[in-house]
Amino acid sequence: MRYDVVVVGCGPSGASALRRCAELGLRSLGVEKYKLPRPKPCAGILYPRVLEDFQVPREAVLSTLQGIRLIAPSGKQAFIKLDPPGAIVDRQVFDYLLVQEAVKVGAELVEEARVRKVEVRGTSYQVYVEGLGVVEAKFLVAADGVYSTIARSLNLPWRKEDLALTMQTYVRVSEEARRSVEGIFEVYYDPSKILGGWIWVAGRARDVLVGIGSSLNYLNHPLKLKQRLTSFLKHRFKEPKVLKEEAYMLPFKGPRKDSQLVKGKTIFVGDAGGFVRSDTGEGVYYAMHSGLAAAEAIYDYLAQGGSLKDLYVKKLDERGMLQLYGLTEVHEALLSVEEAEAFIDRVRKLGGA
Ligand SMILES: Cc1cc2nc3c(=O)[nH]c(=O)nc-3n(C[C@H](O)[C@H](O)[C@H](O)COP(=O)(O)OP(=O)(O)OC[C@H]3O[C@@H](n4cnc5c(N)ncnc54)[C@H](O)[C@@H]3O)c2cc1C
Repeated sequence: MRYDVVVVGCGPSGASALRRCAELGLRSLGVEKYKLPRPKPCAGILYPRVLEDFQVPREAVLSTLQGIRLIAPSGKQAFIKLDPPGAIVDRQVFDYLLVQEAVKVGAELVEEARVRKVEVRGTSYQVYVEGLGVVEAKFLVAADGVYSTIARSLNLPWRKEDLALTMQTYVRVSEEARRSVEGIFEVYYDPSKILGGWIWVAGRARDVLVGIGSSLNYLNHPLKLKQRLTSFLKHRFKEPKVLKEEAYMLPFKGPRKDSQLVKGKTIFVGDAGGFVRSDTGEGVYYAMHSGLAAAEAIYDYLAQGGSLKDLYVKKLDERGMLQLYGLTEVHEALLSVEEAEAFIDRVRKLGGA
C-alpha cells in the first residue's frame, strides 16, 4: 500500500490534516490506534474563535460557554463574558464527527491500528502498523498526540520542562452548585498551594469537570497534585461525588522549535508538535489549524518544491499559530502569588468585571 500522506493519529489535528489532504487530491490514509469514537481527557472548552473558524457540530455540544472566571490567590476575580459565546463539547463525539468529515471527502481510515515505528527508506517512509503490516508514505503527518510514537521513533523526545501533568475528575454536585457554574469555565491560580500549577472547573449540562495541571518542572510527586485536587474539591463543593478520574500529559511550553516541527518529510501537528496555549491549556483550536497548515504545506511542496519546513511555518503564520511561541505571561503567575494577583488585576482592567 502506497500513499502520498499517512496521518498518524485521528484526534482534531489528524482529522483536520486528513480532510484537507483528501480535499487537495492527495492519496491519504489516517491510522488511529483506538476504535472510534474514542474518549480523550479534555474539558471540552471551545472559545468563540473555534466556532468562528470551524463548523462545530451541534451533536457534540454539551453546553454553551458563556464566560471565563479567573480567580487570584486572594479570591479576587476577573470575569470575561463571551459574546458571542463558545461551547463545551463532548470530545468523543466531536473528534469522531471530524474524522467522518475526512472520510466523506475521500480519505481512507484504519482504526484499531497502532503505528509501532517508522523508518526512512530512500525517499519514502515505511510505516509499521499493528494488524495491517507495512504501509509506504511519501509524507507523514505526526498527529499522534502528546505521547507521540513518531517523535520517539524520529528521536525527538520532549524535555521535562516541555510538559505538564494533568488530573481531571468528573463530579456530580448539588443541582444548585451545578447551575451556579453551568456554561462557565473557572481557572484558579494559587502558587502558594501548588507551585507551577493551576486548577479549572468547567460547568456542563449534567456534571462538573474539575481538573488540575502542573508543570513537571515543579512537581516533586504526582500524589501532591491529587491531594491538592481533593482538598480543592472539598472546599469548592458540598459533598461532591466523583464519577470518574483521569490523568494525562499536556505540552506546556508552546510549539516545538522550527528545527523540530518538520523532520525530513514528517510534519508535527497538534499536541505532538506542542500546539497548546501555555496560559490556559487550550489545544483543540491550534490542533485543527496546525493540521490544515501541514496538509497545505505538503500540497505546496509537491506543486512548487522548496523547503517543507519553510512552507509549514509560512502556513502556520498565516493562521496566527506562531503567537503560541510568545505566551509566557501566565507562567510567571503560576510561580508567584504577587504575579498571580497582578495578572488577575490586569485582566480585570482589560474589561473583566
Ligand atoms: C485534562 C485536559 C484538559 C484539556 N482541556 C482542553 C479544553 O478544554 N479545550 C481545549 O481546546 N483543549 C484542551 N486540552 C488540550 C486538548 O485536549 C489537546 O490539545 C488536543 O486533544 C490535541 O489534539 P491532537 O489531535 O493533537 O491529539 P489527540 O487529541 O491526543 O489525538 C491523538 C490521537 O492519536 C492517536 N494515537 C496515538 N498514538 C498512536 C499511534 N502510535 N498509532 C496510531 N494512533 C495513535 C490517539 O489514540 C489519538 O486518537 C486539554 C488537555 C487535557 C490533558
